[in-house]
Amino acid sequence: MTFELPKLTYSFDALEPFIDAQTMEVHYSKHHQTYLDNFKKVLDKYPNLQDQTAEDLLKNLNSLKVEETDRKQIRNHGGGFVNHNIYWSIMGPEKKIDQELLKDIEKTFGSLDIFKEQFNKAALGLFGSGWAWLVRDEENNLEICALPNQDSPLTMGHTPILGLDVWEHAYYLKYQNKRADYINAWWNVVKII
Ligand code: MN
Repeated sequence: MTFELPKLTYSFDALEPFIDAQTMEVHYSKHHQTYLDNFKKVLDKYPNLQDQTAEDLLKNLNSLKVEETDRKQIRNHGGGFVNHNIYWSIMGPEKKIDQELLKDIEKTFGSLDIFKEQFNKAALGLFGSGWAWLVRDEENNLEICALPNQDSPLTMGHTPILGLDVWEHAYYLKYQNKRADYINAWWNVVKII
C-alpha cells in the first residue's frame, strides 16, 4: 500500500471566507502531511501490515500484532491521516448534496436543523482536541459522537460519514478561541448535506 495525501479538488482559498486560505494551506500541507509521515514511519517497522488499507488498520487496531507504543502511533497518526482525508472530501465550494443521507438524517433526528444543533453541541462540548462525527453504527443507524484526539470511528466499529475537526489548528488563525463561530461557518462549506 502506498499512502499518499489525497489531491484536493479545490484550491486553498476556495472555502473563503468560511475557512481561510492560510489555515487550509497549513492544515493540509503541514498538519495532514505530518500525520501521514509519522504513520508511514511506524509502518516501516511492520512490512506485513503494509498491504492493508489505512482504514483496515484502524478497524483492526486493537488486534494488530504490534508493540503497544506503535499501536498508539497508528491510532494517532493513522487516525490523523484518515480523518483528514474525510474532512477534505466532505467540504467544497459547491453543494453536492447526498439526498439519501439527507433523508436519513431527517428520519433519524427529526430535521436537518435538529441534527445540526445536536452535532454542534457535541463539537462544542468536546474538551480539548478532537472531532465531532456523524457515523453509521453496525446496524447502519446514524449516530452523532465526539471522539478525542485523532481516534477514528472505524476503531469503534462505526463508519464515518461526516467529520468536523475541532483541533485549534483547524480554526485558530481566523477564529482564535471562538470555536462556535468556526463550527457555524463550517456548515457553509459542507457540501454533502
Ligand atoms: Mn486537523
